[in-house]
Amino acid sequence: MTGPRIHPTADVSPAASIGPGASIWHHAQVRERASIGPGCIIGKGVYVGADVSIGANCKVQNYSCVYEGNTLEDGVFIGPEVVLTNDRYPRAINPDGTLKAASDWDLSGSLVRYGAAIGARSVILPGLTIGRWALVAAGSVVTRDVPDYALVAGNPARQLGWACACARPLDAALACPACGRRYRLAGESPARLEPLPSPEPA
Ligand SMILES: [Zn+2]
Repeated sequence: MTGPRIHPTADVSPAASIGPGASIWHHAQVRERASIGPGCIIGKGVYVGADVSIGANCKVQNYSCVYEGNTLEDGVFIGPEVVLTNDRYPRAINPDGTLKAASDWDLSGSLVRYGAAIGARSVILPGLTIGRWALVAAGSVVTRDVPDYALVAGNPARQLGWACACARPLDAALACPACGRRYRLAGESPARLEPLPSPEPA
């Protein structure tokens, strides 16, 4: 892999760390102490807050905002114009009308786990975990944790079913009609899915 590719219009803090092979596109801003892993693609106009950690091989599409306190594991897809928030009780001012300072609120980001994907224009509320390979449909507002492989949609986002690692919805037998991968329920409450080993090629 070559060094990172940073477009001249991007604003990358000298105190940020950008992995080899990563691309930072037009007008993106990467704040101090943010860490962007190898191979990531950070799209046009994306905002990456201070101290945010983004793993390897993530794609963050145009105009998304990953605010301070949020963490992306490896292989995460963030669609265009997604917002990962960090303030569970948002106010500009205190009850006495004075402007809130940095010490007047609690930073609370979310964790997006390996392989998960968040569809365009979704909003992720603070303090949640989006499970491994979970799929958040476009336009969702996620207010609760999302289990591994869950497919969620809507406002507030509700679970519609399960998604394969290839992103297609699973059928009732927990098999993928597109790629043939199979899964089984590994827990009931909350429901949890895990992959079955792939059949050996003949
Ligand atoms: Zn599949």
